[in-house]
Amino acid sequence: MNTNTVENGNIVENLSTVQQRIEEAAKKANRSPDEITLVAVSKRHSEESIRIAYAAGQRDFGENYAQELRDKATNLKDLTEIRWHFIGNLQRNKIKYVAPFVNLLETVDSFKFVGDLAAYAKKIEKKVSCLLQVNVGEEIQKSGCSTVEAAEIMGAIDKEEWLSLDGLMTIPPWDLDAQQTRTHFSALKKLQLENGGRDRLPILSMGMSHDFDVAIEEGATHVRVGTAIFGTRAPR
Ligand SMILES: *Cc1c(COP(=O)(O)O)cnc(C)c1O
Repeated sequence: MNTNTVENGNIVENLSTVQQRIEEAAKKANRSPDEITLVAVSKRHSEESIRIAYAAGQRDFGENYAQELRDKATNLKDLTEIRWHFIGNLQRNKIKYVAPFVNLLETVDSFKFVGDLAAYAKKIEKKVSCLLQVNVGEEIQKSGCSTVEAAEIMGAIDKEEWLSLDGLMTIPPWDLDAQQTRTHFSALKKLQLENGGRDRLPILSMGMSHDFDVAIEEGATHVRVGTAIFGTRAPR
C-alpha cells in the first residue's frame, strides 16, 4: 500500500477553513454546527498527516481500504481518542481487518454483508455500529442498496444483537452539479423520515469536499472531507 502523500499546503489551516465552511453552512440552514461531525478522510495519506490533524483537535477519520485502516489503527493506537470510520467498499472476506478497529462502519449495503458482519462481531464480542449505504439515485455502477431494499435491510440489522444501526449514508455520482447532488441528499433525508426519523436513524452521512455545504443544508450530520483537508491523494 502506497501511503506517500502529496501534501498541499497546511493541514491545520485547511482544517480550520473546513470548520468555518461547516459553521457557515449550518448557520444558513438554521442548524447548530455542533450537530455536524467532520470526518477527515485520510485514505492514501500518511500517518504523520493524521497525527498533525489529531494534534489540532480532529478526532474522526475515514478510511476506504481494509488493510490500510487496520495498519493505521494499529500504528496510531497511542492516539487514544481517535475514532475510525470505514467508508469504502468492503469485501466480506476483509471484514476481519476492519471490524476490530472501526467505530462506525458506514458502508453496509446487503443482507449477505449484514449476516457476515454480525457473525464476525459476535465472534470478537464487539458491538459494531453501522450505517446503511443507500444508492438513492439507483446508478447501476454504484455500491449501496436501492431505496426499495433499504427498509428490509434495516430490519435485518435491527435483528442482530451484535450490530447497531445508527443511520444512513450515500455517495452521489461524481459528475453531478450542485442542484442534482442536492436531490440525492434530500432523498436520503426523506428515507430517514420514512423509516423512523432521527430517533431510529440519528446519523446522515453525506457530503464531500466539493459539496458538503449543500449536504449540511439538506440535513447531513456527518460530512466526509478528504481533499479539502489533506490535499491531493497519492495514486493507489
Ligand atoms: C474519498 C472519499 C471521500 C472524500 O472525498 P474528497 O473529495 O477528497 O473530500 C468521501 N467519501 C467517500 C466515500 C470517499 O471515498
